[in-house]
Order: sequence, then structure tokens, then C-alpha cells
Amino acid sequence: MDLGRNNPGDKGERFCMSVFACNTSQEVNGVSWLHGKVSQEMFSSIWKGYFPEENHVGYVTNGVHFPTWSATEWKQLYFKYFNESFWYDQSNPKIWEAIYNVPDEEIWKTRMTMKNKLVDFIRKSFRDTWLKNQGDPSRIVSLMDKINPNALLIGFGRRFATYKRAHLLFTDLERLSKIVNNPDYPVQFLFTGKAHPHDGAGQGLIKRIIEISRRSEFLGKIIFLENYDMQLARRLVSGVDIWLNTPTRPLEASGTSGEKALMNGVVNFSVLDGWWLEGYREGAGWALTEKRTYQNQEHQDQLDAATIYSILETEILPLYYARNKKGYSEGWIKVVKNSIAQIAPHYTMKRQLDDYFNKFYCKQAKRFQALAANNNAKAKEIAAWKEEVVAKWDSIEIVSCDKVEELEIGDIESGKEYTITFVIDEKGLNDAVGLELVTTYTTADGKQHIYSVEPFSVIKKDGDLYTFQAKHSLSNAGSFKVSYRMFPKNPDLPHRQDFCYVRWFV
Ligand SMILES: *Cc1c(COP(=O)(O)O)cnc(C)c1O
Repeated sequence: MDLGRNNPGDKGERFCMSVFACNTSQEVNGVSWLHGKVSQEMFSSIWKGYFPEENHVGYVTNGVHFPTWSATEWKQLYFKYFNESFWYDQSNPKIWEAIYNVPDEEIWKTRMTMKNKLVDFIRKSFRDTWLKNQGDPSRIVSLMDKINPNALLIGFGRRFATYKRAHLLFTDLERLSKIVNNPDYPVQFLFTGKAHPHDGAGQGLIKRIIEISRRSEFLGKIIFLENYDMQLARRLVSGVDIWLNTPTRPLEASGTSGEKALMNGVVNFSVLDGWWLEGYREGAGWALTEKRTYQNQEHQDQLDAATIYSILETEILPLYYARNKKGYSEGWIKVVKNSIAQIAPHYTMKRQLDDYFNKFYCKQAKRFQALAANNNAKAKEIAAWKEEVVAKWDSIEIVSCDKVEELEIGDIESGKEYTITFVIDEKGLNDAVGLELVTTYTTADGKQHIYSVEPFSVIKKDGDLYTFQAKHSLSNAGSFKVSYRMFPKNPDLPHRQDFCYVRWFV
């Protein structure tokens, strides 16, 4: 049970599956850069003695399986303009640059084909259920007629977990009504998603959206599509113009539906959270800042909603409807091309797997070979060493420390080099102690962070007594704290968190 606790031995702490997984896995990773950072913080109390930014939690950003999520029409277009190695080299940005060679009309035509397919799909799949479930046949028929492939279509499809904030768009219904009822700029929102059977709040959101979609001013402008599944997802992520995602920061671990949209020339408009924080490029989609302005979530929701309305009104809609003589928007096609060329190659499953191989799988395979050779000789050696260190760790003694007075009183001259010497009695351990000088600083929020870590070297061994020395200098001015940290040293360990014994002293 203790393997699933932040504080082993605390019988009051409940078993946590994630803590258990961290404790029994050699490597741990988030599914985007930001999720990696958040996870380092979330799980830092498992590895006491290290700062969140130091622990071994890494990241691999999720990608999507290109052959599955790119529509046939787009695959044909890519094959026509990209070179023939494309299929096996999908994550190569050089190849994707050829999207700039595709004539604008062809991109627009492909987009329109996909939009028409989506509208046909909706009419075909939902007509009967809506007629059956929603009564008033004339309303359903009028709704069907109102779905307009020539309008700017905005898609929102996801699990209705509350952090995804499906309700955000409906914060100011009056303003939303003005946007969707502007005759110059037709726009329609297509919502879909399921809530967990036990998630009452999520189900409540769906109910609210359906109610709003039935009001006369939103009829045919806000449409909820039931039974979100892969088939509907495939049509939606290829058939809308904009993919909208509005999670509460920083709760979207990665998000993948926006990446599916990307493979089909659909432009993302999302909060800079999860994958979009890495993916967003100026001129290749739209973003809401990752910074929280308010601690109060209600205020933050209002601000985010206002920002969404304003970006729609002043940027997205005018650009989409800036039609040239040939009937399409050159500016829009440019955003589509930028998004495909500059973002898409980085979010394929090919890139994701390459990252897992390079960061984790290959390293682990090699390590396994080394540990298992000669009837697990190395594994046994490390296990025996760990047992010995555990038995003697608390008895290890600092015999003397020749620290420098300036360091003691904390008055260090910038640029000057100081020599620090420690003598440590390892109590029979054979050069098993590592020692380092850790300089930290405190940020305005009161959190302490690492400024630098400088290792000591062993300069003399006399029986059990080891003499350690380090030279320390600071090149920056400022307020820092200097401390020392002792840890079990063994180059055969995969990382420090694998054997997390740490003793700090000042
Ligand atoms: C892609 C997909 C999801 C996951 O979408 P996220 O953006 O990662 O939350 C959920 N349901 C269906 C049917 C999907 O196709």
C-alpha cells in the first residue's frame, strides 16, 4: 500500500494509482511539454529531496495516426504534391513544405468537398433520430435546411468533462446571437460529445447546450450532434473550418482532436494548453494566452469568452469572408497552408513513436540487456549495493566542513571563486556518497527554485574518510541561498529518483 502513497507509513493517506505507477516505473512522462511540467510538480512529493524541475518526469507530446485521421481526399492531395517517401517519413517537415506549391483553388475545393460531406452526413444520420426524438417535424426540416456548407463551420467535439468548458461560448448569449445572426458573416457551431455516466455536471452541460440550440435565435446556428464516435469525429474534424478547444488551463494534458483537424486543413482556435501550447504558430491558427489573468475561475471564464467573441468578430470571420473574384479567401488559404506546413508534421503518431523510441524504449532495451546479462549479474550487484547503502545511510557522518565564512553569512562576491572542503565518514561504504552544492533562489510566489548544482570531487581517501572539494563562484548579482546535498552515488543507476535517499544540510 505504501507504494501508492506520497508519505509511506501514513495510514490515513489513500492509495493513489498514479503514485503507485510512478514508484514502480523507471521512466515517467507527461503527454505534452506542459503536462510534463505539471506532472513534475504534482508528483514531486514522491521524490523528496529534489525540486520538481529536477525530477526525471519527461514528456512525449501525443500525436495522431495520420492514415486514420487524414481524409481520403487530403491523402490524395498530399500524395500528388509530396514526394513518395512521405508515407514512411510523415514527421519530416521538409516534405510538408510542398503544401505551399498546391494552388489555392485546389485547397479551397478540397475543403469545400469535405464540408459538403459533413453536411450530407449530418442530414443523413440525424434526420430520423431528430424527427423521432424532438417532435415538431417542421422545426427539424427547417434546421436541416439551415445547415449551410458555405457558412464558416466551427467544430467542438470532446468528452463533456467540465474542465473542457463546453459552456464557455454561451457566457454572453446576446453577443453570441449577434455573431451567429450577422447576415454578412454566416457562422455555425457544431457541438458533440458524451459525458461520463456518473458525471452529472457534464450531462448538465449537454442539456444546457441542447436547450440553447433549440431557441429560435440559435436554431440551425448552434447544433448539437448526439453519439460522438469515431465516425462522427472523422467527418467533423475534416468537415469544419475551425476546431475550437477551450479547456481550463492547465488541465488539458494534450488533446488530440485538434491534431486530427490539423491533418485536414482545419485551423485550430484554442487555449494555449496541452499540445496547442507547443503547436501554435502565428499566422497558422488562433490562440488564447496560456496565462491566467484571474484566480477566480468565473472571472477567467468571462474574460476568455469575451476574447473568443472578439477574435471571431475582428479576425476570423472577416478573414474567412475576404473572398476574391474566384470566390475564396486567399488569406484563409494562407492560414490553412501555414498550419499544414508548420504544425502538422510535428503531431503525427510517427513523430510520437520516434520520441518514445529515442527518449525511452531504446535506452530501456539497452539497460535491460546490461542488467540481465550473465544471469542478471548487474541487477544483483545493484540490489546488493542498495541494501548496503540503506543499512548504513543514517550512520554516515560529516567529520569536518571547511566552509567559507562569506558563504556562511551569505555575503558572496560576484565572480570570486571560493573553495569548500568536506570530510565525510562513509562508515564502510565504498565511495558511495555523492555531494553537491546547490544554489537556489526564491521567486515572488514564495517558491524556491534551483539556480545551479555544482558537484564536489573526492580529492582524498583515508580509510573510511573521504575528502570532498568544490569550487564555487556566482556570476550574477542577486539573493541566493547556498546549501549542500548528499546522495547515494552509483553510475549504474538510471537516475537519482530510482534510489531516492537525500540528506540536505547548510
Ligand atoms: C479523438 C477523439 C477523442 C479525444 O479527443 P481529445 O481532443 O483528445 O479530448 C474522443 N472521442 C472521439 C470519438 C475521438 O475521435
